[in-house]
Amino acid sequence: MNLRLCLYNEPILRQKGEPIKTFDRDLRDLAQKMVLIMEEENGIGIAAQQVGLDKQFCVVDVRGAEESYLCELDGKPQLPDLLMPLFLANPEITKNSAQQNVFEEGCLSLPEIRGEIERPQEILVRYQDLEGQWRQLRADGILARCIQHEIDHLNGILFIDHLSPAELKKQEKKLKRLRRETRDFLKKAK
Ligand SMILES: [Zn+2]
Repeated sequence: MNLRLCLYNEPILRQKGEPIKTFDRDLRDLAQKMVLIMEEENGIGIAAQQVGLDKQFCVVDVRGAEESYLCELDGKPQLPDLLMPLFLANPEITKNSAQQNVFEEGCLSLPEIRGEIERPQEILVRYQDLEGQWRQLRADGILARCIQHEIDHLNGILFIDHLSPAELKKQEKKLKRLRRETRDFLKKAK
């Protein structure tokens, strides 16, 4: 299976993922391929939709970030190096902190577009690992933000959907160009 990064107006990015039901070698292969694409593009997260698949599966790796963050797996503090790259199948946020923070986000599928987005500072997320075991992760800071961004992808949501109309308008030119580029790329790929 050859995978490539999907861009802004490709319909797959608007598709909700199907639940992962089999935790087999194919899933581990997919996980490894997604890590490669994410690293090639210098990303900190990637969702199945971004490589053309409608699945509830994403990868997160924020070890390159300078800031520190809370990272607690099944109730115990976890070293980032042991947790990441983190593979989340069928993830679901079960608790959001009331406290929110604002941070500038970007997305591999929306090159050159950035925007300040407000999200809960801390989350509790329930997900299945590559073996199908249910895990619970408490995270804050950049880790929580990246997980929220990726879970949005699994539901067909892009970070620009969270921008205010005024902020979105500022990006309109870049988005138009990106739409055109995606269209031309898809024509050529046919
Ligand atoms: Zn993204």
